[in-house]
Amino acid sequence: MLEHGQGTNLQDAEWIEWIYQHLDPSNMSNLQREKEATHTAITALYADINPIWLEAARSVETRKQEEDRQQHEQRVHPLPDRKTVMAMIIRRLGWRLPGSSSTVPIYGLTVRQATQLQDGPALEQRQQLMAAFVQEARGVVGVTAHIDPENEINRFHTTLARLWSDVRWENKNKETLWCLAVDGVPLPGNTHLSRMPPQPCGCGTFGGPNSPPSSPRLHHFWECPIAQAVRDQIDRHLSSSATTEGGMGRHHLWLIQAPPGCDQAPWDVIAMAALSSMEHGRHCLRAAIRGQRQMETMDPRQPPPSPQPQTRVEQGPRQRVITDFFRQSGSPLVQEEEANDTQPAGPSLLQPTIGGRTQMVATTAAASSPLHRARVRAIADFWARLHSFAALGIPRRGWDRVGPQHPILAVAGGQVQCAAPIALTD
Ligand SMILES: [Zn+2]
Repeated sequence: MLEHGQGTNLQDAEWIEWIYQHLDPSNMSNLQREKEATHTAITALYADINPIWLEAARSVETRKQEEDRQQHEQRVHPLPDRKTVMAMIIRRLGWRLPGSSSTVPIYGLTVRQATQLQDGPALEQRQQLMAAFVQEARGVVGVTAHIDPENEINRFHTTLARLWSDVRWENKNKETLWCLAVDGVPLPGNTHLSRMPPQPCGCGTFGGPNSPPSSPRLHHFWECPIAQAVRDQIDRHLSSSATTEGGMGRHHLWLIQAPPGCDQAPWDVIAMAALSSMEHGRHCLRAAIRGQRQMETMDPRQPPPSPQPQTRVEQGPRQRVITDFFRQSGSPLVQEEEANDTQPAGPSLLQPTIGGRTQMVATTAAASSPLHRARVRAIADFWARLHSFAALGIPRRGWDRVGPQHPILAVAGGQVQCAAPIALTD
């Protein structure tokens, strides 16, 4: 029996002889193979094949069988084309909206929902900041009614939407409120500048080692003497029913909720003007103190620097009206830029003439401290803003019920009339 390895020493001619002898039936007399001998010969041949070749041949065979099977399968169940596959995948994709467990299919997503998805984190942060604002606004003394915070926040959102669309006034008069609501007025130590220590206020009651703890926002837009000067103007114009309840509350001002005796539409304007003028007063005080420091450190032998060119940012109808407003007083107020103004205020700083009445707000030489001047300027800014609004005429919405007796902004003779400033009290 020829086994693997045994035939490797056979020469070509010997192989041929061997094949004739064992496999070629023509060599056999009866033309029939001898089964036993043939089987033995084939087995020997097989055993003589290199096992590596055999393995390779087997794997080729297996692969070919698999390809045949796949081709058969495709003939029976053809694969979908690329477009169909994409459609199948996309139909199964979707978005999960914040606060919702169900998904919105990708083809069903509206622009509103997509915007919601994109702005989701920012909106959430904004919501938290507004909640804190409402809470701080409601921390006012004297309010005993139970407040539903969620309801209050929703109400404030509605207010902001109304102020944006219904109050036709330059946006610069609305900006302070918008910033304040998200603690966005750049006050060191607030939510956005929390890594910076609170900056002491020039009034001396905030940011010092012995100052009571207070948020920068609460100080500058409520507690600071500048803010109080503006509040005082409002309080003294409000009807007695409001003042018996302790005057204007912080929620009236910050959340733009009309106090007793006020209609909502004029109050929208009054409150936004007040917040804007408080911010204006803050800038004035900071600039005045900075200027004072520069004067102190200046070499007395050097001549004083010439005034810088005017860089007033606020343009438009308001400024024109301020000019009209203060023209008769001959006051340099309008021309003065807060950042440049370090001169002591003269006795005629604010002598507005309204309706034939002249009211002196700051009339003494003692009124030359930066704080006092900042307070006067905040008040002047407040009334100037209101006059600018009155000059726009009666708004179409919400002013039907406003009569001639309404505090601060009244409607009489087909015009919006603005009340007069009241002398500043310390
Ligand atoms: Zn202050």
